[in-house]
Amino acid sequence: MLKINENYLRLQDSYLFSTIAKKVDEFKKKNPEKEIIKMGIGDVTRPIAPIVIEAMHKAVDEMGESQTFRGYGPEQGYLFLREKICEYDYKAQDIDISADEIFVSDGAKCDVANILDILGNENKVAITDPVYPVYLDTNVMIGTAGKYNKKSGKYENVIYLPINSENNFIPELPTENVDIIYLCLPNNPTGTVLNKIELKKWVDYAINNNALILFDSAYEKYISQKDIPHSIYEIEGAKKVAIEFRSFSKTAGFTGIRCAYTIVPKELMVQLNNNKVYLNNLWNRRMCTKFNGVSYITQKAAEAIYTNNGQKQIKENIDYYMDNAKIIRDALKKAGFITYGGINAPYIWLKTPKGFTSWEFFDKLLEETGVVGTPGAGFGPSGEGYFRLTAFNTKENTIKAMKRIEELV
Ligand code: PLP
Repeated sequence: MLKINENYLRLQDSYLFSTIAKKVDEFKKKNPEKEIIKMGIGDVTRPIAPIVIEAMHKAVDEMGESQTFRGYGPEQGYLFLREKICEYDYKAQDIDISADEIFVSDGAKCDVANILDILGNENKVAITDPVYPVYLDTNVMIGTAGKYNKKSGKYENVIYLPINSENNFIPELPTENVDIIYLCLPNNPTGTVLNKIELKKWVDYAINNNALILFDSAYEKYISQKDIPHSIYEIEGAKKVAIEFRSFSKTAGFTGIRCAYTIVPKELMVQLNNNKVYLNNLWNRRMCTKFNGVSYITQKAAEAIYTNNGQKQIKENIDYYMDNAKIIRDALKKAGFITYGGINAPYIWLKTPKGFTSWEFFDKLLEETGVVGTPGAGFGPSGEGYFRLTAFNTKENTIKAMKRIEELV
């Protein structure tokens, strides 16, 4: 008889954003005349930078000529892109990463999920709480999370590291041994960051406990404050204990084009019996077997951002979103809300008004203002009492949404 992966039956509800989409659809059906402003899901709205579009057009033309046509590409990504990543994203920050430590993919979401393929299902996993839901759900899917406890809202085998206003959104090191730690910095959903001293504690923990850090820096380009690490490899020893995930989605508006990359340092290894097993080799093997690589046209698009003009053009879009973040922070402060984040990340994390759970506040905001945010509880039990707004809408809509919230208050 056919068997299924029963771990999937332990997943809670539907994925957070599909629940929100369902609620918004119902609201639209009931109130067809009301204008909705989406500040919930973290999707971008600015068009792709002209230099990227130009590169894509050129790549399309190349595909139509026999001399420049390309068929299957390298599963790890074309060298022309990986070399630019080394130069612009690492060497320029004094970090030495070589092209064969870089794996280009179609998304950081896929990579943070697929990495579990080479790590197996016997690890003790720690996540911050609240957290980007993909880390948790993918561990539920492979069985490392264990049973769900309805009362606590937690999975039995997962170590939850609360981040909240009491600890200034700085997670404490686990008191028991863990094998895998997910760190997302700048953080989604809270928009907060760790400085080098705080991040070093995690690298040291991983070194001392033979643990692996899965470091998601999808929002690295949004860091505006000095002394905030952009890469975990700025911390000494991190290459021995960390895999870093980056994405062009929020950096260059590639949520529709799809491109990301993952760094698996060659030093990263586990000792198995008397053998050293290198994670770079395993991930390479996995990519070659299970992944077709990213299209030539997409990689040419990504390469275009690694020019002076390309960097300037993507920065203009990032600045646009961060101006929105400031508009949101200022307006919410004026309206009496307590907010966090929005300085090094396009996310503003706010405390829900007294007496409102995060889903109740979601409903109230949708019903009375048409503004859609994301309830903190959707990111984990410690997200209760908080709410996330994103800075990715247009400036006009952001201003309109803030006006409506001020009026509501
Ligand atoms: N990692 C984090 C923390 C995110 O917030 C997101 C998207 O919202 C992703 C990864 C997904 O990146 P990609 O679009 O490259 O799959």
